[in-house]
Amino acid sequence: MAQHFLLSPPAISLTMGEVWTLTEDEAHEKLKAIRWPDGIPTCPVCGSKQSWKVGKRKWKCRGKRIDPKTGNERWCYYQYTITTQTHLHSRKRSLKHILAACLSFVNGVLGAAALRQRREIKNSYKTPFVFQHRIRAAIDTANQTEMAAGPFMEGEVEVDGMFVTGRKVKQNNPIMDDKELEKFFEDYRKTHTALVVVRERMAAGCDKPGKVRTIHVDREGDAIPFIRRVVKPGSTVHTDYSTQYLPMRMFFKHQRVNHSKTYKDGDACTNQAESFFARVHAAKEGVYRSWRKRYVSWYGAELAWREENARTANGEQVDLILKALLQIGRSPIAGYWQQHKDRVPF
Ligand SMILES: [Zn+2]
Repeated sequence: MAQHFLLSPPAISLTMGEVWTLTEDEAHEKLKAIRWPDGIPTCPVCGSKQSWKVGKRKWKCRGKRIDPKTGNERWCYYQYTITTQTHLHSRKRSLKHILAACLSFVNGVLGAAALRQRREIKNSYKTPFVFQHRIRAAIDTANQTEMAAGPFMEGEVEVDGMFVTGRKVKQNNPIMDDKELEKFFEDYRKTHTALVVVRERMAAGCDKPGKVRTIHVDREGDAIPFIRRVVKPGSTVHTDYSTQYLPMRMFFKHQRVNHSKTYKDGDACTNQAESFFARVHAAKEGVYRSWRKRYVSWYGAELAWREENARTANGEQVDLILKALLQIGRSPIAGYWQQHKDRVPF
């Protein structure tokens, strides 16, 4: 049997020891290579590559832009650093700490608890809590950008859903009448929401997982518009026997497997989607413990990212996280503890 990827030497390309021995300048160079691959500082406001260096790691834009108030062209003069107007905007910790936090985040294959990171990096609890949400929001934003360019999944795609919120609803046993039954379903509908996964099936002979995306919806059937946005027409979609997925056959080749009889019916199966839910279960019960309903889509984005990059070396995973964090656009989670209502979208 082939060796598990995480047991093999290529799984480790960056260690915590290497990160802590970096100087702040070296950490800055690493981030600079990710944010500006051509090595030229670029203004995040006007996009000009011309600038003056006004500090050790700070630049002032020398380009021109349209003034939004007057509509006239004027000098930009915007001062920026490596993290300005990105998901790391208004950071408090050093770049080396950010690298260490990213490495700690990717090393937890089932998720990284904020309290564990607090002990590793000696932060307050709030720092890793918000930082992790920044990472999840950055992954989510990158996914949205990718989706805006049109569907990108093809071939065999598996779709399945699981309930991720809601507690056991109190019920009298046995249920006596219709009124009680209706009350039971009403309570159930109010509290239970689903995480639906859309997973490209791993191609034969390929050891890298296909694309994985998730969406948080009230009912599994509500995910169909999302599935149409990510899966190319003409692909084959595999689901279970839930009637909520029946409209899918209007848009794709639809194959169903009856889970009360078998897990694989010919070619039809959703085993790879179920395998993703094994990760979700482990993360939910073993690491994060409880998910606030409003953050479920972010946790889903994080775990889908982990599934998709499960066979990527940890140094490359850190680079991918930094690439997501350094995209233009400020994090919706910035100012969380200060309750900046304009920044927190809830
Ligand atoms: Zn500028």
